[in-house]
Amino acid sequence: MVSKLTSDSLPSYWPYPLTPKPGELLSSWLARNSFYSGLNPYRFCQRLLPNTPIWDRDIDRYIPIKVAEELSLLSGISCTIIESMTFGVMQKNAYSNWSEIESVTPMILSLGMHGRSRFHFGLQYCPYCLNENSYFRKCWRLAFNTHCDQHGCQLLDACPFCEEKIIPHRAEHVDLCWKCKRNLSLSNVSEIAASVIPKKQRLSVSPDGVICCDLSLGASSTAILRNFRSLIKVVVEVNHDKLVNASGSKKLQFELLRVNARKEITKILEEILAAWPESFHKYMVRNNVTQRKFSRSKYDEFMTCEIEKLPIGRKVHRVYKPVVYTEELKNLKRRSIKQYRVDRSNTLLKDCVDA
Ligand SMILES: [Zn+2]
Ligand SMILES: [Zn+2]
Repeated sequence: MVSKLTSDSLPSYWPYPLTPKPGELLSSWLARNSFYSGLNPYRFCQRLLPNTPIWDRDIDRYIPIKVAEELSLLSGISCTIIESMTFGVMQKNAYSNWSEIESVTPMILSLGMHGRSRFHFGLQYCPYCLNENSYFRKCWRLAFNTHCDQHGCQLLDACPFCEEKIIPHRAEHVDLCWKCKRNLSLSNVSEIAASVIPKKQRLSVSPDGVICCDLSLGASSTAILRNFRSLIKVVVEVNHDKLVNASGSKKLQFELLRVNARKEITKILEEILAAWPESFHKYMVRNNVTQRKFSRSKYDEFMTCEIEKLPIGRKVHRVYKPVVYTEELKNLKRRSIKQYRVDRSNTLLKDCVDA
């Protein structure tokens, strides 16, 4: 008698582990392996690593070492390679690289995870690259990357057919949209070609958190990146209305923005950096930016010396001047704030009636 194959009779080891592709994201590799094994990614990971949360966390941003070791043991792929498919190094260096630590990892697009759903469009892709080789690249999670250098087209951060977020592990295959099930790589070529950016992006970030830029600023790459992140805040403030229109949202944190808004910011940054420091001053003067705009963040020497050349700016004094504030009321305020408010109101009311 042939026994029926049930989920419990499936082997718990990894039958045919696929090799990670160059620059592949861990989530993409796991999803590809799942589909190859004929299981959906939730089921696949549940069988391999029972009771280990995989898909309800951003595994590409950070993977606990214990999980990486287990995956390594099961797949035969080294732990170093598995960790290199995540932004773990960038995450680990966050404290030493960034002056302000925020809830998102600087320069990595936020997914806005909430169970199985996502609030942000944190995964982008190039339809041509995806068509050539069906897997998701690490560079597509970087906030600076808004276009594909190889194909010269703007990256897409949503399904071109239904505008849904890109979540490969919820689909039936890596390159299909999980919602409308259409092939993501079959985007309208002529539409994409219209947004071709001919030149190479001047700014990019390596997955280790090192900035790559064709500028000679005489500062370490980490310092450049840290300063540029603060500079982005100034650019966002100066172009607030324009960016709100481009993003359709009032939340203008760089890593939360959609590709069009980030493209605008990157364009402005490139203009500021085009011929440093002249281009920086030209932009700031044209937009009436003073030193005060930079006062909220810390900068390294190569930036500070340029910021100090800008006009100081007017200090806005916001001093509370009460309408009625006699010596008697002042003493009363110290003793009883409740009675002070009553007496103050009565005094104001009396003044109004007398007038
Ligand atoms: Zn491409
Ligand atoms: Zn779709």
